[in-house]
Formats: sequence, C-alpha cells, structure tokens
Amino acid sequence: MALINENYLKLKAGYLFPEIARRVKAFTEANADAAKRLIRCGIGDVTEALPEAVRYAMHEAVDEMGDRGTFKGYGPEQGYDFLRTAIADNDYKARGLNIEADEIFISDGSKCDTGNILDIFGAGNKIAITDPVYPVYVDTNVMCGNTGDANEAGAYAGLVYLKCTPENGFVPEIPAEKVDLVYLCYPNNPTGATATREQLTAWVAYARKHGSILLYDAAYEAFIQDPAIPRSIYEVEGARDCAIEFRSFSKNGGFTGVRCAFIVIPKTLTGTTKDGTKQALHPLWSRRHSTKFNGASYIVQKGAEALYSDEGKSQIKALIEHYMGNAALLVEACQKAGLSVFGGANAPYVWVGCPNGVTSWQMFDKMLNEANVVITPGSGFGSAGEGYFRISAFNSRANVEEVCRRIAALN
Ligand SMILES: *Cc1c(COP(=O)(O)O)cnc(C)c1O
Repeated sequence: MALINENYLKLKAGYLFPEIARRVKAFTEANADAAKRLIRCGIGDVTEALPEAVRYAMHEAVDEMGDRGTFKGYGPEQGYDFLRTAIADNDYKARGLNIEADEIFISDGSKCDTGNILDIFGAGNKIAITDPVYPVYVDTNVMCGNTGDANEAGAYAGLVYLKCTPENGFVPEIPAEKVDLVYLCYPNNPTGATATREQLTAWVAYARKHGSILLYDAAYEAFIQDPAIPRSIYEVEGARDCAIEFRSFSKNGGFTGVRCAFIVIPKTLTGTTKDGTKQALHPLWSRRHSTKFNGASYIVQKGAEALYSDEGKSQIKALIEHYMGNAALLVEACQKAGLSVFGGANAPYVWVGCPNGVTSWQMFDKMLNEANVVITPGSGFGSAGEGYFRISAFNSRANVEEVCRRIAALN
C-alpha cells in the first residue's frame, strides 16, 4: 500500500486553461467558418522567432558537442560560469547592483524555480499571495501542505490573499499582520501592473522588520519602458537581506520552448531555525539544486549567453518593441471601446474591466462568439480578478490589428 500526498487532492483541478480549451473546442465544432477566423490572445506564450544571435550560438554549441575534444557531459549544476558571469555583469553590476555570479543559479525555467523554492522553507510559514495571481504560486503551496482546503470561491485556508485592485494600482497594501513569505510579481502577470520604487521600498522595509522573505518574480522586467520603475528588487536598499529574485529568458529572449531561467539568492539572505538561529539560504538552495537538478543544457546556456552580446541585446530590444507595440494598439482599441484598461504600458498584458455587470466568463463567451477572439477571464486568476479579462500582446502585428478592429465592431 503506497500512501499518496493527499495535498494534491485539495487542488482545484487546473480549472482555467482546460475550461478555456473546452469552450473553444465546443465553439469551433459548432462554427466551422468562424473557427477559421479565431485569434488566440489567451495564453501567455511568445509568438515571434528565436533571436538569430541565440540560434547561431546554439548551432556552434551543437557542433562543439559533435567533436570529442570539445564535447560536454554533465556541467556544473548551478550553471556554467560564462552565463552566471554574463548575468551578474549585465543584469546587475551594469546597473550598479551588487549581485555576484555565484549568487545566481541557472535552471530550466522560472515556473520550476518558483515551485521548487518551497523545498528550502519549513512547514508552518504564513504565506501571502496577491489576488489575482499567477496560479503556480498557489498550487505549489497547496501541493506541499502549506494550505488547508479551498472554499467555494477557490480560496485556500491558511493563505493570506492580498487584493489587487484599481484603487491600489494592483500593488497590494502592506498587510497589518506578519507573514513569512510574500510572492510579488512585477511587471505583473496577469494585470500588467508595475510596482514603483516607493511601493517596493515599503515591502522591503516590511520584510526586514518581520524577518519575512520576498519571492520576487521579475519574468517581465525587459518589458519595462519607464526608467523610473525598478527592474530588480535589488534596486531597493536592503533587499539583499530579504529577497529572492526569479528571472527567466522565456519572455525577453523567446525561450518559452528553449527553457532557461535563473534565481538569485544573495549570500546575506537568511531564514531561521525553530530555535531562532539564523541560517543562510544560499547553501540550502545550492544543496537542493545540485541534488535534485543536473544543470540546464550546455547548448541552451550558450544560447542564453548570446542574449547578452550586442546582437542579442538589439534583437531582444526588437522583440520587446514588437510586443509593446501590440500592447499599445490593444490598449487604445479597448479605451476607444469605452472599457477601463490597465497594464499594457510596461508589460505585455492588457487588463481590461468588463462592461458593468458582465462577469469575466460572460465576457470570454462574448469575445469568443462575437469577435472570435480568445481572451483569458480574470476570475481564473483569483476572485479579485472577477469582472476583468486579460488580453495578451504576444501575437503577430497583423493578428493584433485584426483583434483591434473586432473590438471596435463589438456591440
Ligand atoms: C512566463 C512566466 C514565467 C516564466 O516561466 P518559465 O518557466 O521560465 O517559462 C515566470 N513567472 C510568470 C508570472 C510568468 O508569467
């Protein structure tokens, strides 16, 4: 008899994207012609080709693998020095931030990193997440037993939900109570909101006061257009002592299918044992990473390194300009349609208020049936997302222009 991890039974079985798929399938089966017009602006996946600099570097790496003299087997679990150094130099030191190469751990994705990080934290932590939220943060806490059951609305007992609304600019207020771990994601998926320096400074002050740790997901930092908005949590004084940062090449370099990301754990960052002794987290993660992970592929890391070359940087810039151009068109189209629009200025997501009294799923059906456009219902990201929908700017320009025309034609 093998006992299972019963926490998995508490999971609200991946409701959002399967339900979208079910409705789209039903629609396309019933409307063969309209199905041909369908444009998908739902899932947060990039659409444009992998930058040339990356492809060249990966081709070269493949050839190295084909020669006995330059062949690579297992690499360092934490990642190759060439990539860790390129990251430290370009993403941090060039911006005046004190992050060393050996504080960076290369992985095959931020989705895994944000889930796996819970391995080094003990049971009984009070965990805060924003609402709406990237569902991975919630489900991984459910899986490891950090929550109770979900209620009717899908909220799990034991989690502290921080409401994100237009009133707070979709950046949660500092909670009155003490929490131990706080997930923050800026620029935000799904709302497209960004956090200002003042807001992040307040969160760092809170974390330092309470000995909390901020889990800062900066997967969309490359989309920030406003130079006043921090790109890294470490731009805030004191964050080295209270924050872990997650970064990914998925959205800036188009690596969603290639897979490469990294996590920053400053050596000065500590948690505590039950008896109150401070313990550095860096060696724990290092141990965890090298025990449960055998390193990202050499070829992929070579590709990621190429994103830091001059060609790579300008190719990233072109990708970002493309997607942000799309976002600007979508924002304008939704505004012209009289909808309230958020995000889309420093993030590839446009967060749109449904017309009065219309729910997220009603709007989903309307967009599907009348405009033949697939969006993501806001309520799928948490109860505070009800009454909103998300449009992704990850698409071709032609598709986005067509989506804008269809929004204008909506009743
Ligand atoms: C896309 C995304 C990531 C990146 O995930 P990968 O596993 O690196 O592809 C991380 N966080 C959020 C919120 C995202 O939307």
